[in-house]
Amino acid sequence: MDLNFSPEHRAFRADVRRFLADSLPDDIRARTLRGEKLSKADHIRWQRILAARGWLGHCWSKAYGGTGWGPIERFIWDEEVHLNGAPRANIPAIDLLGPLIIHYGTEAQKQRFLPRILTSEDWWCQGFSEPGAGSDLAALKMRAVRAGDHYVVNGTKLWTSYAHDANWIFCLVRTSLEQKKQAGISYLLIDMAQPGVTVSPIITVGGVHAVNQVTIEDVRVPAENLLGPEGDAWAMTQYLLSYERIVGAGLGASTRYLVEARAFAERTLRGGVPLARIPRTAQKLASLEADLMALKFTAYRVLADEVAGKAEASIVSVVKLRGAQLQQSITEFMMEEGGPLSIPDVQTLPEGGPVIPEADAYHAQQAMDRRKLTIYGGSAEIQKNIIARRILRI
Ligand SMILES: Cc1cc2nc3c(=O)[nH]c(=O)nc-3n(C[C@H](O)[C@H](O)[C@H](O)COP(=O)(O)OP(=O)(O)OC[C@H]3O[C@@H](n4cnc5c(N)ncnc54)[C@H](O)[C@@H]3O)c2cc1C
Repeated sequence: MDLNFSPEHRAFRADVRRFLADSLPDDIRARTLRGEKLSKADHIRWQRILAARGWLGHCWSKAYGGTGWGPIERFIWDEEVHLNGAPRANIPAIDLLGPLIIHYGTEAQKQRFLPRILTSEDWWCQGFSEPGAGSDLAALKMRAVRAGDHYVVNGTKLWTSYAHDANWIFCLVRTSLEQKKQAGISYLLIDMAQPGVTVSPIITVGGVHAVNQVTIEDVRVPAENLLGPEGDAWAMTQYLLSYERIVGAGLGASTRYLVEARAFAERTLRGGVPLARIPRTAQKLASLEADLMALKFTAYRVLADEVAGKAEASIVSVVKLRGAQLQQSITEFMMEEGGPLSIPDVQTLPEGGPVIPEADAYHAQQAMDRRKLTIYGGSAEIQKNIIARRILRI
């Protein structure tokens, strides 16, 4: 197994770096690096730049306006995007729905939905979780009853990220009440700009509005918006999971946090000594760097297996679990070492100017946002259950 990148892939990485250096607007880069939430207009501005370069559909085939990249190019892209302070594109549309439509959609669905994602005319959110159906997703209750050429949909989706920015939602819905609960679930594409669809904000403990509750009451959805065969959503979702096994590792994010943490520790003095030279801090930093390297090698192994077409679906759980733990360990370290310098609110007090000069500011508080990694995309306990059952065979 060769874990080195080929000369072509190294040239590709250089190309990506050049493009990000030349084309990413400075204000978007600065705000992304500070961990500030970008507006939808900012995202659209960046997505249009990517689309003009042909690099928006980074996991789509060329036939549908995508890049046609393989797993290694996608890995490099994801890493460089994080490292260089570029925002991720509309993930539900680009990373999740796009591949599903390309693989399972009718030609009419491909022609209708894919181009509007690339022009950013449509903004999608992902409607999977419900009250009472998160880890146990198969318990979902949103009901879609066929009535002629329509489905009539009723139910509630919960924790729907950026539903307040979206005009379309792709939902998992129950189309039949078969005995096996996985068997009656289908994908339905629902236009949110119609009566009966209500988006209610949920403000998280950090004071941020990123997630929502979406209520759907007696909404008529044309049957042509069924994606894939009725009742087949479970298998389709497994396809999605196996599609990109290592992106959940967040290697680009961890690498950037760690580079920032080391730079901060080198430039910040405590008792006249740089933090990075104080044994306890130096040891913690080194240990985090070793953990990151270990995770990188695991990711490279998965990547090599993926290219060879023999990657295990359940390895995604190892990578997601360790990736989340590592991001949290690094960002907790940043918070601890940064102390008051980590608090953005202290740096930007409206009266009296910034308390801490921008050059010294250490935007680590954003890092606490990483706590959410324990839950979303499959909680840590669920990943451990999968690892125990399918890999360790306990
Ligand atoms: C920031 C954020 C954004 C999100 N965005 C979206 C989105 O856009 N679309 C969407 O559909 N969903 C989204 N989610 C929802 C997310 O997928 C669910 O929160 C997640 O699947 C967990 O489900 P739950 O919240 O119902 O918790 P539960 O499933 O009720 O779990 C509660 C606790 O019990 C533990 N637990 C549950 N079952 C087991 C078990 N069998 N063994 C051991 N422990 C168990 C869990 O690990 C967890 O600690 C988002 C969540 C967050 C936090």
